[in-house]
Amino acid sequence: MGKYDEMWEKLNIDMPAHEGLMAVLGKFYGDIYLSQQGRLQGMEYLDLVLSEIHGLRVRELQEAKQKEGRKVIGTFCVFVPEELTIAANAIQVGLCSGADAGKEEVEKLIPRNTCALIKSLVGFKLAHLCPFTESCDLIVGETTCDGKKKAYETLGEFAPVYVMEVPQCTSEDDKVLWKAEIIRYKEKIEEMTGNTITAESLKKAIVIVNNKRKAIQRLNKLRVAEPVPISGRDALLINQMGFYDDPERFTAQVNLLCDQLEEKIAKGEGVAPKGTPRLLMSGCPMAVPNWKLPYVTESAGAIIVGEESCVGTRNIRDLVDENGKTVDDMINALTDRYLKIDCACFTPNTERVDNILDLAKATKADGVLQYTLMFCQPYAQENFRVEKSLRQEEIPSMIVETDYGMEDVEQLKTRIEAFVEMVK
Ligand code: SF4
Ligand code: SF4
Repeated sequence: MGKYDEMWEKLNIDMPAHEGLMAVLGKFYGDIYLSQQGRLQGMEYLDLVLSEIHGLRVRELQEAKQKEGRKVIGTFCVFVPEELTIAANAIQVGLCSGADAGKEEVEKLIPRNTCALIKSLVGFKLAHLCPFTESCDLIVGETTCDGKKKAYETLGEFAPVYVMEVPQCTSEDDKVLWKAEIIRYKEKIEEMTGNTITAESLKKAIVIVNNKRKAIQRLNKLRVAEPVPISGRDALLINQMGFYDDPERFTAQVNLLCDQLEEKIAKGEGVAPKGTPRLLMSGCPMAVPNWKLPYVTESAGAIIVGEESCVGTRNIRDLVDENGKTVDDMINALTDRYLKIDCACFTPNTERVDNILDLAKATKADGVLQYTLMFCQPYAQENFRVEKSLRQEEIPSMIVETDYGMEDVEQLKTRIEAFVEMVK
């Protein structure tokens, strides 16, 4: 019996299917990550978090629940304010939605022409494959895109789900609605945990989450060096792990990694020779273990220098103002910060185009790959506008539409190799 089998059985995990998933994931990780040359020592921390993702971290969650009575909150979107969760002494985790799971069962409940991320978020629950999902006392959804908000109704038949209403626009009236939603979530989490959120606990939580964002901001500044000191795959993994690990431990480890990156940059060392084409990824989020496109891109001779996505800069670009004195001041600060998230679900969403142009310039990108999950209307619609603006700035871009399957890998490789040749 494996060291976590008893825990997984108690969580009602489908053991044979889970063993199969872990074997595939391990092989995939070995090919994509461990095969890289010249990785930083600090990446061992991420290798450990990933290899133990369903083990050690889940055990920590279980112990926090059993010994300390803490609650675990699962999310699928960066709109759920982690500051409130932490301030109520609960734990927030991003849930698995980056691989096909339980697809056959899912397609009996939601339309086939739904994006892979949505199918996956329902599929992991139906297939009993994710110990994080099974550890959750509550899953907090949001009314972002139509597919997701309807899928939460379906997920709600199998798990405790609570939905936050995210407005569609960002006017002053929308801000009022969003503030009311933040307060509603605060009351919900207080009721669940039995803990009242105070100015002191909220301030502390704001600092914890800001520090996490600042650590990734620091990483992003360092990775623009030439030669590029860290692969896009590793940088994506860091962003992904930020949704699972303890926030303070994660921040400390990312800062250690950044110290190593500084040393590497000072010595002029990189993971790719000077002059390697630099690409920016932009668009839909890449949840664990969705590493397909970064792998194909970097295998095609390019290096990824930034991710304009929710598992990337969109999640860490803006900080929450730390100067609030009262709970209401801090709720206002959270309202402002979260409404700056330039998700394609908003209309209009012109800031996103400006942010992509700024990021392409800051990362000195030679081109932009617009990553779109098949059937994702919001990002597919915005692709045209983004492409037009990039063209005006003479920055080459290519739209890549795909899903979680491996059938299109060769075709993607051919297209991306041609794009890389073009931007050289
Ligand atoms: S892209 Fe939009 S819906 Fe998706 S995680 Fe980001 S904010 Fe949420
Ligand atoms: S990728 Fe697009 S369709 Fe899928 S959940 Fe995100 S916004 Fe919705």
